[in-house]
Amino acid sequence: MKDKTNLPPTKPNSNLRKIILTAIAIFCGAIIAWIVFINLPQTPFEVTEVNSNQPTETNSQQSDEPSETVDPDLPFDVSVVYSPGYLIDLGGMEKMHPFDIRKYEKIHNALINDGLLTEEQTLKPTPVTNEELLLIHTQGYLDDLKKRKKVAQYLEAPILQMAPVSLDRAVLEPFRRASGGTILAARAALTTGIGVNIGGGYHHAKPDRGEGFCLYADVPIAIRKLQSEKLIERAIVIDVDVHQGNGTIVCLPDDDSTFTFSMHQGDIYPIPKEVGDLDVELDAGMTDEQYMEVLSEHLPRILDGSDADICFIVGGCDPLDGDPLASLKMTPDGIVKRDHAIVQACIERKMPVVLTLSGGYSPDAWKSQYKSIKNLLETHGLATVAGSASSGVEETSKLEK
Ligand SMILES: [Zn+2]
Repeated sequence: MKDKTNLPPTKPNSNLRKIILTAIAIFCGAIIAWIVFINLPQTPFEVTEVNSNQPTETNSQQSDEPSETVDPDLPFDVSVVYSPGYLIDLGGMEKMHPFDIRKYEKIHNALINDGLLTEEQTLKPTPVTNEELLLIHTQGYLDDLKKRKKVAQYLEAPILQMAPVSLDRAVLEPFRRASGGTILAARAALTTGIGVNIGGGYHHAKPDRGEGFCLYADVPIAIRKLQSEKLIERAIVIDVDVHQGNGTIVCLPDDDSTFTFSMHQGDIYPIPKEVGDLDVELDAGMTDEQYMEVLSEHLPRILDGSDADICFIVGGCDPLDGDPLASLKMTPDGIVKRDHAIVQACIERKMPVVLTLSGGYSPDAWKSQYKSIKNLLETHGLATVAGSASSGVEETSKLEK
C-alpha cells in the first residue's frame, strides 16, 4: 500500500476538477432519483401507456386562455337527449343479443319515474343525415349497410338475417337516430354545459366498416359536424368504456383538432389495439379505488393540455364486476364516481361536456348508468332550455338540425 504522505501535493486545478466532478455526480444522482422514485407507477396494477402523444406544457399554458368559440358563462345544467326511436325491435329476437338494447328505454323511464325529467323536457333528436354520415364514413360502407348479411356481421347478430323486419327501419334508423342524439347532446352542451345522450358511444365503428355492435361513429361525426359549423375548433374524447375506442381513433386520424384518450382493459377485444393520442391499458381485476387512481392521474393534464372546446365521454359501464365481456371489478357506485369526476373536471375548466352511454353487458348494467345520470341531474340540475313543457318543445326544435 502506498504511503499517503508520499502522494504529490494537491494542485489548485485538481481541486477545481473535483468540484466539477462532484457537481456532475450530484446532478446525475438527482436525475436517477427522479426517474426511479418520482416516475414510478402510482398503482400496484400494471398501467401501460401505449402511446403518449400527450399535451405539452406549452399547450397546457394555452388552455388557460378562454376559448373564443365557447360561452364563458355556461350554467353547466344537464340537457337530456333520448328518443323511443332508439329501440331496435327485431320482433323479440333482439333479446338474443348480448347488448341490452332496451337499456336506453329503462334508463329514461327510471329518470321519469324519479321525477327528474319529463317526456316534454327530453330533447328528441332526428336521425343523422346521409350528408352527416359522409363526414366520417365512406359511401361504399353506407352502401354495404344495405346488405343484411353485412349488418349482421358488424353487429355480431346472425339472427338478424332471419328477423322478419325492415333492415333500415328496424335497425339502421335507430342507430342513425341515436347518433343524431349525440350531435343534439353536443349542441345542447354548448348552450347549457352538460349534454347527456341516453344512447350513442359507438366507438368501434370505422369509416369503412362496422364492428363490435357499432355501425355509425356518432362521436366523430358530431365533432366534425360542429367543426364544420365553426361551433368548435378542438375536441377531446375521453373513452372509459372497458374496450378501447379503436373506431374513434381510426375515424379521427392524427390532427391537432382532436385528442383521443382511451382507458381500457388490455387483454380483451380489440386486439390488436389502435394507437390513439393516449391509451392506458388496465389489468383485469381493477377495483373502483384503483381505477379512480389511474383516472385522476391522467384526467387533469389531458384536459388542461387538450385546449378543447368540448369533451365527449364514451361512458360504457362494462368495467362493472360481472360483465361477461370484460373482467374489471368496478361497482355501480364506481361508475357514478367515474362519470361525476370527469364531468366535474370539465366544469372546473369551463369545458362543455357530453356523456354517451356505449357498452355494458351484465343484466343490471343499465342501473349504473341510470344512477350516474341521476347523480348528474341531482348535482347540477336540469337545463332551463328544457325546463318547461312549452320552452322544452320550442328549444328542442331550435336545437334540432
Ligand atoms: Zn365496451
